[in-house]
Amino acid sequence: MATILLEVATPDKGEVYAKEINMLITRSICGELGILPKHARLLTELIPHAMRIKEGVGETQLFVSGGFMEVTPEKITILADSAELPDDIDVERAKAAYKRAEDRLAKKNPEIDIDRAEAALARAKARLLVKGVHMG
Ligand code: ATP
Repeated sequence: MATILLEVATPDKGEVYAKEINMLITRSICGELGILPKHARLLTELIPHAMRIKEGVGETQLFVSGGFMEVTPEKITILADSAELPDDIDVERAKAAYKRAEDRLAKKNPEIDIDRAEAALARAKARLLVKGVHMG
């Protein structure tokens, strides 16, 4: 089966993932993208979500909080603001972030930065989804 190298790095942690994979399903600001080996060149911005990485018969999820993805026929390079494999996600921390963001949005206080709270909520939701936790 043909493969393409996937590299994911963050400013905090450096390299988070580097492996030959068969397919990546990811979400960009323009919608969902399925990347196979020999994909056309592409540069796009990612939104917070759980990417699906297909390797052989298996599938791994990898949370990314947003960032940039460059695709060439041989390689996918993602520089994410943050990225975590399922085992590295702290559920209680994500639940706390979810509640904080939800409370801020519910109060409709004119001083809150709505975009920031919505982005925090989206990150928390995506992390919890990876762990199979559904809130509210
Ligand atoms: P919080 O409010 O809990 O910090 P956040 O969404 O604002 O959440 P980020 O800015 O995306 O956090 O990430 C900051 C750092 O903390 C990154 O290195 C990220 O991988 C890590 N991180 C954030 N939330 C979690 C979590 N629930 N489990 C594991 N690592 C996390």
